[in-house]
Amino acid sequence: MALLHFFFASMKQAQWFSHTLRGWFLKNGRTLPWRNNPTPYQVWVSEIMLQQTQVVTVIPYYERWIQVFPDVKSLAGAAIEDVLKLWAGLGYYRRARYLHEGAKVIVEQYCGEFPHEIRELRKIPGIGAYTAGAIASFAFKQDVPAIDGNAERVLSRFFGILGDIRGTERRVLESIASEVASFGHCSDVNQAIMDLGASLCGKSAQCAQCPLADKCYAFEHQMTESLPAPKVRIEKTDEFRVALRLISPFGKTLLAKRSKDALLGGLWEFPMVTLSRGRGKEHRDNALDLLRESRDARWRAWCHEKNLCLKEWHNTEKYISHTFTHIQMRVDLDEGLCNNEPAILPNGDYEDFRWVEYDEIGTKYPISTLMKKIMRMSVLGES
Ligand code: SF4
Repeated sequence: MALLHFFFASMKQAQWFSHTLRGWFLKNGRTLPWRNNPTPYQVWVSEIMLQQTQVVTVIPYYERWIQVFPDVKSLAGAAIEDVLKLWAGLGYYRRARYLHEGAKVIVEQYCGEFPHEIRELRKIPGIGAYTAGAIASFAFKQDVPAIDGNAERVLSRFFGILGDIRGTERRVLESIASEVASFGHCSDVNQAIMDLGASLCGKSAQCAQCPLADKCYAFEHQMTESLPAPKVRIEKTDEFRVALRLISPFGKTLLAKRSKDALLGGLWEFPMVTLSRGRGKEHRDNALDLLRESRDARWRAWCHEKNLCLKEWHNTEKYISHTFTHIQMRVDLDEGLCNNEPAILPNGDYEDFRWVEYDEIGTKYPISTLMKKIMRMSVLGES
């Protein structure tokens, strides 16, 4: 319902917004070295440089870069050391690596030409939704939105999106941005939104000088300071698990496949048990106490239930932390030997169990990043 409401209420607003803002931009837009009929490569380089860096800092770097690497082929053919040297001082070096990697992908997989479709652009390392929108609209003149932090601020204030635009209200924001884009001239309008967000509609809005003030929701309702709404932080659930790496008399390791509907469904791992799940400091303290207790009886009962003859086990004293969207997980690792290699029936979170060679883990049997971290802790190594 919220989506429909915004859709109908915003159509006329969107047209007025697009038209008015473009008019303002044509007179007041910033002159920047990457704005004069840019190639997709120039848009890409400038947008990556502008992430977390101010325009005034980027300009000399951009100009030097374009002299040394004027196109995607020259960048793809360069040594990474030279790329990083040119980037030195700009910070966040991962961006330079992404540009270099991305250039190679464009040369090797797209014959040196940027793909025109947003979906294809997003397959290139370092190109996310915003950068793809910027390349498509600025270089290819497509009428698609490009939503960066400035656009989030301007759109949420002008259209009065009151909820979390990075969470529950994201679809509303994207729907409005598409509505604005449908009125055309996106190359100008997207840049206009950015320029307004970087100047008059910055953190503290200067509404008196803004061309949009007549119809702006935040201005009318005196909400410029409270929009965009701060991100709603969801307290994560803490989950404490123990994994058991179990080795058979034939040197095989027991792997379990997570059920399709479980977290990380379909992936393989050392069998785990969840000791505790909850929120808050008291829960965490209790869970840590539980981890300090001996798990001997627990593992023996677990093995007995699966017809496993547990010979011995030890606590590696190692654990990893792993963050999911809603869960903060700690996994401690225990390791043990058993005297048999029985077939084990599906059970609980697991739809299959197999005895496997160690080097098949992650090759024949796909595993999660969590499992990769757990394997790095294994004291028994590849035995
Ligand atoms: S009127 Fe104020 S809040 Fe609204 S878009 Fe303009 S600067 Fe931003």
